[in-house]
Amino acid sequence: MDKRFLQDIVVLYVEDEQDVLKLTSAILEKFVKKVIPAVNGEEGLEFFKKYNEQKSEQETIDIVITDINMPKMNGLEMIEKIHQIDHSIPPIITTAHTDSDFLKKAINLRVRGYVNKPLNINNLIDTVAHAAEPKYLKEKLEHFNSELQEKIEEKTLELRSILDSQDNMILVFAGSEISSANKTFLDFFGIDCIEKYKKSKAIYESFIVEKGYFSTTAKEWIDQIVQLEDTKRVVKMVNFKGSERVFRVQVRSFVFHTKHYVVSFTDITELQEYNNKLQYQATHDNLTKLYNRQKFNDELHKEILRENRYQHSLSIIMFDIDDFKMVNDTFGHDVGDIILISIANVISRSTRVTDIVARWGGEEFMILLPETSANEAVTIAEDIRKNVASMDYEQIDKRVTISLGVNSFVANEDNYDSFIKGVDIALYKAKNSGKNKVVEYEK
Ligand code: GH3
Ligand code: MG
Ligand code: MG
Repeated sequence: MDKRFLQDIVVLYVEDEQDVLKLTSAILEKFVKKVIPAVNGEEGLEFFKKYNEQKSEQETIDIVITDINMPKMNGLEMIEKIHQIDHSIPPIITTAHTDSDFLKKAINLRVRGYVNKPLNINNLIDTVAHAAEPKYLKEKLEHFNSELQEKIEEKTLELRSILDSQDNMILVFAGSEISSANKTFLDFFGIDCIEKYKKSKAIYESFIVEKGYFSTTAKEWIDQIVQLEDTKRVVKMVNFKGSERVFRVQVRSFVFHTKHYVVSFTDITELQEYNNKLQYQATHDNLTKLYNRQKFNDELHKEILRENRYQHSLSIIMFDIDDFKMVNDTFGHDVGDIILISIANVISRSTRVTDIVARWGGEEFMILLPETSANEAVTIAEDIRKNVASMDYEQIDKRVTISLGVNSFVANEDNYDSFIKGVDIALYKAKNSGKNKVVEYEK
């Protein structure tokens, strides 16, 4: 047995024979942390009380070694009284008594050790070690546990402050239940604890169902969102005050529990708005707000692929404002701009949402008409021509007219270049044969 732990033990040693007390204490002191000597039961009890009261101090009595027969108060009586104060103190008795009454009483008092007089010091040390070890280990364990508890609390606090210091909203999930949320999340919803959130509405109810964003009506939204590729994990959420924000969602599962997730929401509202703006600028004409030439071409290429496959018919209209240079020269460039915008609005009103209306350049426009035959396209072109020609402008004292070319795609014969060339030729013919008219390209 490793007896080094005795160095931490404080012993109350009670013995009425002064010589024995002095000598044994001196030897014991070499092995233990401290020996408190007392000359009889009464003094022993008094010392015990004194040490017990100052429990918060470093030293408390760990074990009692006592003689039996002593003046004023005998050893067994003292043990009984000490046990009334602290029943965990292990007692050891030193005596020459061997009668059964005494042994019975000693057992009742849960005496842990018994050393015959005259004392054999090795024997005494062994007995002290055996008696003191359980209490010592128990205290050591308690101390260790409380240190561990403190460390856990410290670490929990540390993790909590890490979570709370994040700009991202963070949720921790145990299965499909939210177990924790950080401050950013609570702040967004204007609540001070996650329980309130769980009571009022589940997270998926905060999602705004909208095209382009992850949407769900199911409680198992995490299971659904993890199936998506990273770029699709974008949600639009609304808080209790009705404020909407766009978030990129990241889901990480814990290493040991695959159903435990840390979910973070990065606010990308501004980024998304900027992105949308750039996207708009890249596909639209600044003046008329119609699609630009680039966007028209992208859509036309797609439609040509579809048309070659399904042959549902596909037409385009190209038109150009008649004598527009003169309008500019006579009324000024700004008036010219107003007319361009008005004509853009007229065409938008005269076409379907599936049609792509674009500014091709200068005062030239293109209309892509999917699922539209040549005859239908000519009718639409004629309507647009009439609508434009019938418009009055308060800025100018004359009508504005347009000339239009129409071309229909011949599947697996035409291609992009021939299609555009054809409509351009038709427009040229309209211009050269009097303007303000619709000409269909002759194949
Ligand atoms: P035509 O009937 O043969 O089409 O004659 P036109 O005068 O319309 O043709 P031309 O190509 O000679 O002139 C086109 C004019 O369109 C010249 C240019 O100043 C004007 N234009 C092009 N883009 C804009 C614009 O953004 N704003 C304004 N105000 N004018 C524009
Ligand atoms: Mg013109
Ligand atoms: Mg022109």
